[in-house]
Amino acid sequence: MSIIDEVIAKVKEKDKGQPEFIQAVEEVLTTLKPTEEKHPEFIKAKIYDRIVEPDRVVMFRVPWEDDKGEIHINRGFRVQFNGSIGPYKGGLRFHPSVYLGIIKFLGFEQIFKNSLTTLPMGGAKGGSDFNPKGKTDSEVMRFCYAFMRELYRHIGPDTDVPAGDIGVGGREIGYMYGYYKKIVNEHTGVLTGKALEYGGSLIRPEATGYGVVYFAAEMLATKGMDFNGKVVVTSGSGNVAQYTIEKVNQLGGKVITLSDSNGTIVDMDGVKGEKWNFLMDLKNVRRGRIKEYADKFNVPYYEGKSVWDVIRDEGLKVDVALPGATQNEIHKDHAEALVRVGTIAVAEGANMPSTLDAIKVFQDNGVLYGPAKAANAGGVAVSGLEMSQNSLRYAWTREEVDNRLKNIMKSIHKSSVEAAEAYGRPGDLLTGANIAGFLKVAKAMVAFGVV
Ligand code: NDP
Repeated sequence: MSIIDEVIAKVKEKDKGQPEFIQAVEEVLTTLKPTEEKHPEFIKAKIYDRIVEPDRVVMFRVPWEDDKGEIHINRGFRVQFNGSIGPYKGGLRFHPSVYLGIIKFLGFEQIFKNSLTTLPMGGAKGGSDFNPKGKTDSEVMRFCYAFMRELYRHIGPDTDVPAGDIGVGGREIGYMYGYYKKIVNEHTGVLTGKALEYGGSLIRPEATGYGVVYFAAEMLATKGMDFNGKVVVTSGSGNVAQYTIEKVNQLGGKVITLSDSNGTIVDMDGVKGEKWNFLMDLKNVRRGRIKEYADKFNVPYYEGKSVWDVIRDEGLKVDVALPGATQNEIHKDHAEALVRVGTIAVAEGANMPSTLDAIKVFQDNGVLYGPAKAANAGGVAVSGLEMSQNSLRYAWTREEVDNRLKNIMKSIHKSSVEAAEAYGRPGDLLTGANIAGFLKVAKAMVAFGVV
């Protein structure tokens, strides 16, 4: 048994109740096996054992009052997973499914993703099992204040800089930042994803979606292709999906699907122009359901089905898949369906949207596969640029930030390709991204000694 197999077995035993974390550890560590032989110093320093243990886990009670004065108690989390290469950085997720295992999986992935961006950022994640859906603005505000009332003591511009994720957008960041500023009495870049008026960066809202498309364009270019005329699918209809669609449209492709947790729409003409504007208003202003898109534009709606169910059941032709909703949405049968309909590339906007079985199907069938930690790193990369601008007390132009984002996505693709080659898995971007991200962190950990 290799050292890595031993570590995986230990995590499976010790973290039994955290299947998502086990899945992420297994996925990452398995691909790191080629590093064992080349780096005996990592084994000596027990880096593989250390990297699966968070630096720190903070769990706290979040009591808040609804509009009727009734008290509710939610659970808050911040997992500061690894701070070897910079201040902790990673989003906050508000969703009823949140528990320690989800936050640990996301924080663990974040270590390698942040390292890949070339910026100095450690890995962390946090959130709560609070469900913002159906809550009034004032309830969301009171919840955000209550959440920050505890979180503020664990974060800081040089310690830990949270951002948004599922259920945490501009509104929530505004409430949390306002409350932090009030109690700490400092205007520092302690959260990213802020609005422009109080220290946000241009292109941050667009960054993850644009970044996925830039990354997928690099993947397609290895086959001499581009987005022009391509039929693209995404899932979800939130921040990542919205800007994925905008960038695909700009590059001449069309996106034919959208979804939410209730169902999926298919629009063969593509979500563009007036339809994209409708989506932005529906999801960001009115906070409505995607079914309204089907009603408004008279396109098919599949109640209770995911985008991937619809592709499997209807046999839609797909050139490029850019999942943008949530973890484990693409199962083996979905991946097989994507192969059947001739999909050229899959680049992950959501975190861990494909199960391990599904990834294997892509790899065994020659589908170009861009793993989340590489493909969706654009969000955290521009968050890193927001931190830099806050430190400089300066704001770059849209073009400057977009160019930096584009270059970062190119560099992530290049370093993933090169690491895959150097460690004997040419073309395997999953292995390449994991190894490239890991090496920097592992070398820093060795340099620090036993801490
Ligand atoms: P949003 O909250 O803006 O949107 C999430 C979308 O996914 C919504 O349409 C939501 O539908 C749908 N969704 C969520 N859970 C499920 C589910 N269980 N089944 C079906 N649909 C679901 O989040 P983001 O767009 O910001 O994030 C999407 C993904 O991208 C996540 O995996 C996130 O971790 C990842 N990501 C986001 C980054 C960012 O910068 N925003 C950066 C890197 C990764 P509904 O409204 O019904 O819940």
